[in-house]
Amino acid sequence: MKEYLNGRLKVIQGDITTLKVDAIVNAANSTLMGGGGVDGAIHREGGPSILTACKEIRNHRYRDGLPPGKAVITDAGKLPADYVIHTVGPVWGGGRQDEVKILEAAYRNTLLLAEETGINTIAFPAISTGVYGFPKELAAPIVYNVIKTHLSRKSLPRKVFLIFLSKKNMEIFEETLSVKEL
Ligand code: ADP
Repeated sequence: MKEYLNGRLKVIQGDITTLKVDAIVNAANSTLMGGGGVDGAIHREGGPSILTACKEIRNHRYRDGLPPGKAVITDAGKLPADYVIHTVGPVWGGGRQDEVKILEAAYRNTLLLAEETGINTIAFPAISTGVYGFPKELAAPIVYNVIKTHLSRKSLPRKVFLIFLSKKNMEIFEETLSVKEL
């Protein structure tokens, strides 16, 4: 586990569904109807109330689905967290389809929604770096810089966790940042 930004950013290894933080972030897809990876784990462990809340959002605010880069909040069902913030990252298509901007927007809009909601502690998975194929070494400094900018301007969230399911992916993140000497 490493700490950055005066201890306000912590990098940890584990399963996001087990975390007792105010909000966990879901790397959702635009349908908000669940999927594989971390999305599947959150809906499976959290139970049906999360899907019910997502259906409400689809029926009222986002009839065509949640656009990539946007974020919405629901309850967290049976999970130890209080809320789930669902955001949609970019599908990696080689880097010329605004993938970097969309990844930045997903983290930035999630942090802004957390701030508006009064959230103190939040945990992010490595959005888009699974099935969506965003290169992990490229994502690390992007994610770090968006969080750094947000935390320099806002007092909430007080603490941000980046949680990696695998030790290897956590180390890729840490090593990429140390090479960049951020
Ligand atoms: P995406 O479609 O945005 O790429 P994925 O769920 O496929 O999302 O993967 C995003 C990242 O989340 C991957 O690095 C994957 O290893 C990780 N992940 C999957 N399940 C969990 C979990 N339960 N807790 C934390 N991270 C997870």
